[in-house]
Amino acid sequence: MIKRRDTLNFKIGSVGIGSKYPISIQSMTNTDTRNAEKTLAQIKELSSNGCEIIRVAVPDDIAATSLKKICMESPIPVIADIHFDYKLALKAMENGVHALRINPGNIGSELKVKEVVESAKYYDIPIRIGVNAGSLEKGLLEKYGVTPEAMIESALYHINLLERQNFNKIKISLKSSNVPLMIDTYKKIANQIPYPLHIGVTEAGTMKGGTIKSSIGIGALLSDGIGDTIRVSLTGNPLLELPVAKQILVSLGLKKQGVEIISCPTCGRTEIDLEYLANEVEKYTANMKENLKIAVMGCVVNGPGEAKEADLGIAGGKGQGLIFKKGEIIAKVKEDELLSTLYKEIEDMRRCFKNE
Ligand code: SF4
Repeated sequence: MIKRRDTLNFKIGSVGIGSKYPISIQSMTNTDTRNAEKTLAQIKELSSNGCEIIRVAVPDDIAATSLKKICMESPIPVIADIHFDYKLALKAMENGVHALRINPGNIGSELKVKEVVESAKYYDIPIRIGVNAGSLEKGLLEKYGVTPEAMIESALYHINLLERQNFNKIKISLKSSNVPLMIDTYKKIANQIPYPLHIGVTEAGTMKGGTIKSSIGIGALLSDGIGDTIRVSLTGNPLLELPVAKQILVSLGLKKQGVEIISCPTCGRTEIDLEYLANEVEKYTANMKENLKIAVMGCVVNGPGEAKEADLGIAGGKGQGLIFKKGEIIAKVKEDELLSTLYKEIEDMRRCFKNE
């Protein structure tokens, strides 16, 4: 069992952040925020695929204005991502965002920081400080190079600016595309501050490489109890991030809702198109909320035994296969009936969950 690091707790809209709440999944839209309709359509699609908090870029005044409609109609809390311009932060808050991502050290005088903090207190919204290895302050780079020390000093500097205004609804991220650096940095800061951590590997890459890097980076930290909200950053449609994020949490037992697929690697005993079956089952169960383990195994001899811990499973043979439940065989069916029989069993089990 993973013991989460104790943190301060607060809410971003309806979603709790911190050690007393489940780890949440975030993503970021890649539509033009100035186009509220398109951005809302993407938010709705992401939300229905498991995204719990959404961040949108706010590069100018038109985008900040567009937030009004976006925040009003978004099914999930919205975070405004703002660089440098404190006026955009003020407008975003007026227009209903549920949190800000802004680095107070980058917005100018202490008076401007004070104005942003006063407004955040008024609207009761948290602020994420996002330190990125790629955009560290020049002085820190000269002093330390790109190291955990530089990233932590940068984060502590921004944190201090908020704490000086008696503000503590703070969430921190310290992202890097370098996985060992990112892991080391988060581990080091975890003991120094009480704030929840948003974790992720930034610019992780494309679907394949980025999934691996994110799983290692985010997974290593989560397995040590570090991390309160996650984002998997992949190049392309943000929709691709969500199954990866969900799978990281499910694999570590940190998400009690969602189906975990177990499928064997296949071997010389496999006499069925297992890849097709496993992909079909994954698609069928992708948005289910129940905590289920489903096995898709390549042979009837070893399959049921090797996947004993699964709630339900199929084991394929030549022209036919077995359906098993907790390692016990419950039916023998023709190959072309394997999926439909498994789906019926899954639905029966889901009905039981609902009646419990
Ligand atoms: Fe091979 Fe059967 Fe094991 Fe799959 S379940 S790897 S087919 S022995």
